[in-house]
Amino acid sequence: MTERIRDFLRDRRVNGLEDGPVLVVDLEVVRENYAKFARALPDTRVFYAVKANPEPKLLALLARLGSCFDTASVTEIQLALSAGATADRISFGNTIKKERDIVRALELGVRLFAVDCEVEVDKIARAKAATGAEDVRVFCRILCDGAGAEWPLSRKFGCEPDLAVDVLDHAHRAGLHSYGVSFHVGSQQPNTEAWDGALGSASRIFRELADRGIQLSMVNLGGGFPTKYLKDVPAVEAYGDSIFRALSRHFGNRLPETIIEPGRGMVGNAGVIESEVVLVSHKSKAEDDVRWVFLDIGKFGGLAETMDEAIRYDIRTEHDEDRRVPCVLAGPTCDSADVMYEKTPYWLPVSLEIGDLVQIEGTGAYTATYSSVAFNGLPPLRTHVI
Ligand SMILES: *Cc1c(COP(=O)(O)O)cnc(C)c1O
Repeated sequence: MTERIRDFLRDRRVNGLEDGPVLVVDLEVVRENYAKFARALPDTRVFYAVKANPEPKLLALLARLGSCFDTASVTEIQLALSAGATADRISFGNTIKKERDIVRALELGVRLFAVDCEVEVDKIARAKAATGAEDVRVFCRILCDGAGAEWPLSRKFGCEPDLAVDVLDHAHRAGLHSYGVSFHVGSQQPNTEAWDGALGSASRIFRELADRGIQLSMVNLGGGFPTKYLKDVPAVEAYGDSIFRALSRHFGNRLPETIIEPGRGMVGNAGVIESEVVLVSHKSKAEDDVRWVFLDIGKFGGLAETMDEAIRYDIRTEHDEDRRVPCVLAGPTCDSADVMYEKTPYWLPVSLEIGDLVQIEGTGAYTATYSSVAFNGLPPLRTHVI
């Protein structure tokens, strides 16, 4: 936790202004993260994945620093524009778009779109004709198994590389600018070599299209850069080195233009959630019975990524010097799925009590945007950007 977040939380306690859990995001950390990405991958443009945390002040900072933005909806496009990004710095990276949203994006000036099938290409071609937009660029997303990632992505996005060749050929014939290839190696990817296989596929797609007279220009390396939770993760520099080596291996001295789309790696470690212990209880009289600890935040309040116990957050308490015991950690709602860690219990201090405040580190990404609106009457997670 940074000094600034610690001070903010202390003042909040003293002033006693609001009830409920709160997320505090430190913009100084985001600024450092952006600089690290820019240094580690100097020839690569950064498209921040807006869905990780779309707070206006955070987007405005990134826009000032020169970041571009990867968006998934018209609302996210408008957020990026309001933050000061020009439309040429925005991509519509969702492969699943309504045709009228593509039209709207074109009207707003966006010219870069993700696709993973021919019918999506057709939607964009029709929207281009309807709006009269010029130089509409598409990149085709390919499947990537996400092996090793703590938040692997399913087969929902992307197509097999040989189909991508046809999709990009189809886009070219439909009057679009077949611009490149994208993939995502899985979120929270601890393996710095994970980009190699997909870069091999991308280079083959480049060659096959070149044989058909179509010159691709760009490889979108996606996100996947991790945040430190309980386990240490490699530094951004290690990812930069590994990606540069893989690019050279597969593309030789004809390196394509590259972009990255960090979400978690840009904002994860900038945020801390403060939550309150609501209940500590047991389910039986047995000596070795496991404790249940209920917080005022759970899966529906912003910790959705504890689904299947995928992301294990680092939770701090005022009693961290004390002996620890295994606990089931659960949220406050009346939904029985609102249990965060049970299969692998979470070790918490034996002295943790009702009313204690705990700090959940590394929660700047994929928290507030995942919190429900008024389930059980609970408000969505409040965010303070400092
Ligand atoms: C969510 C998403 C990202 C961000 O992924 P992280 O693992 O958080 O860095 C990047 N690109 C696309 C297309 C996404 O959907």
